[in-house]
Amino acid sequence: MTSRPTQESTLLEGETSRAMNSLSERVFHRKTKSPEEIQIKTGLSNFIITQLALLAALWAGCFPLRKAFAAPEPDRQVPFKVSSVRLAGFLQPRIIANARSRLLAMDEGALLAGFEHRPGTQAWIGEHVGKWLHAASITWAYTGDPSLRAKMDRVVNRLLRTQKPDGYLGTYLDKDRWTSWDVWVHKYVLLGLLSYYERTGEPRALDAARKIGDLLTNTFGPGKRDIIASGEHVGMAATSVLEPIVLLYRATGDSRYLEFANYIVSSWDQPNGPKIIQSLLSTHSVAQTANAKAYELMSNLVGLCELVRTTGNRSLLKPVLIAWDDIVRRRMYITGGTSLNEYFQKDYYLPNEGNVSETCATVTWLQLNLQLLYLTGEPIFADVAEKIIYNHLLAAQHPYSATFCYFTPLSGYKRYTSEMNCCVSSGPRGIALIPTFAYTLTSKSICVNLYNTGIASLPLSPKVTVVIHQRTLYPLDGGVELNIDPSHPVRFALSLRIPSWCPKAVASVNKGKPIAGKPGTYLSIYRQWRQGDRVTLRMEMPAVLIKGTHTNQGLFAIRRGPLVLCADEALNPKLRPITMAGLNANAASELKPARRTGTGAIRERVFAAPGFMLERQNGGAVKPIPRTVFLIPFAEAGATGGRYSVWLRAPS
Ligand SMILES: [Zn+2]
Repeated sequence: MTSRPTQESTLLEGETSRAMNSLSERVFHRKTKSPEEIQIKTGLSNFIITQLALLAALWAGCFPLRKAFAAPEPDRQVPFKVSSVRLAGFLQPRIIANARSRLLAMDEGALLAGFEHRPGTQAWIGEHVGKWLHAASITWAYTGDPSLRAKMDRVVNRLLRTQKPDGYLGTYLDKDRWTSWDVWVHKYVLLGLLSYYERTGEPRALDAARKIGDLLTNTFGPGKRDIIASGEHVGMAATSVLEPIVLLYRATGDSRYLEFANYIVSSWDQPNGPKIIQSLLSTHSVAQTANAKAYELMSNLVGLCELVRTTGNRSLLKPVLIAWDDIVRRRMYITGGTSLNEYFQKDYYLPNEGNVSETCATVTWLQLNLQLLYLTGEPIFADVAEKIIYNHLLAAQHPYSATFCYFTPLSGYKRYTSEMNCCVSSGPRGIALIPTFAYTLTSKSICVNLYNTGIASLPLSPKVTVVIHQRTLYPLDGGVELNIDPSHPVRFALSLRIPSWCPKAVASVNKGKPIAGKPGTYLSIYRQWRQGDRVTLRMEMPAVLIKGTHTNQGLFAIRRGPLVLCADEALNPKLRPITMAGLNANAASELKPARRTGTGAIRERVFAAPGFMLERQNGGAVKPIPRTVFLIPFAEAGATGGRYSVWLRAPS
């Protein structure tokens, strides 16, 4: 893996290439102790033994899908049940809007029309019900809203009534089966049904998924139909059914599904196949793999992660990590999104306008990072997940409603819509996933991955539950207070994620001596925790000036903590058009919170920085005129329909 710097390398600010190189060493060879392991001293071995047993129990308990077949090598971080977590603060309005205004308001007839009146009016219209059911199931597990559950039950009942006797549950006529996007549609129906089954335990959903699985295994394989020839994008649309097939195997323990998963992976290497593993191992480039279609390629990698989890074959992680490294280094925007016109582009080609980061790709990229976080336990994947969530994902969702963008450019306009398209169905899945990785359990610790005001009730054993109250203004401020209240005194390590962007972090327990954290690692505090213990974490959150390179040569952007800031014309009447506005070299160091925008309106989360506007003087030369630039989080820019830009001109 090369370490050539990229214009979007700010993820790794404060992070060294050494850390990147040691990442793969740690993932594949766990003999070397990680820093946090070294920090944890005596008394740990007994704790580890107890925790490994608890972890196995939790691993099975959290995921009914994982019950039937225990994987030989469980995740290194296991998320707690989403119902254990309540997020308030910055993220709450987004999650609530998603739950109530999108998922609960969804037109059931529109979701099911393609199934109830075959053929569907569009090739992949059948994906929407699966995506909706996936997002709704996680969200219902989080909120417990009975009206959402009732809606899920109604949708599943209607959907199952349309399943054909042989198991077919798509939107095509018999004569057109397995053409175009038919396998893809079954992938999402499977994911939706299995997600619903996982949270509700409703056996009819699993039975229906089995019937689909049986139909697929009977239809595709050596001597049968070719799955590669049955899907778009060099077959990748069809082979992304790998993810739910592996989940189906875990839910049932039926080895035919695992055999089918292995057939899917082997089909990649057919002469007409996408050669995903071969290509990533040899080219180290997602842009040179298959046809570089971002959403489909990453969907296959998510499936490969599920296969690693299930078989313990960690060698399959290698191509996934190569893809991850390539995306982070060469194809990720500073806002966490990736792809242009739905494809991975040539190295470092990241234009800010146009069809930037299809929301389907943003969400799948988030899923891939969460998969890698759980499989490896490495905090770098939580760092990237944080970057995606607080920037590109929230930017794709309207801040005050439940509409989503298909593409979300860094400069230009956001085109929010409530219509039913692939991205508007993907966005809610991304929002639903946010609470899922907030807290995780390892063999030795509770990890705090997400900072946001809220409360979590985390079972460590049948007898001990640890309640964590988190209070913070994060992502606007790096101060976090955590009240740790175990039901009984208990020893464990509390592992606080110190983001790789954070230059300095210090924690203390009960106002005791300060403990320094290191960027890009977990700061672990091992002790016996008792009711009333209080942890204070202070993370420095300086604004950072990002100097553009490659396609952003001559431009500046500002990031403050995890938030990338943005200038919205609606708040800057003196900076129109925004394409002529610039930031001074001291814009980050002089960045100040502002109570009012450039229009004089009072608004939260506004910052002011020194900048300039290029203006033509009396028909003569263009000169920079000093101006204050008002900036807001990219996640909130463009919400009134106006033009905005993350990147602004640098002084010439
Ligand atoms: Zn899409």
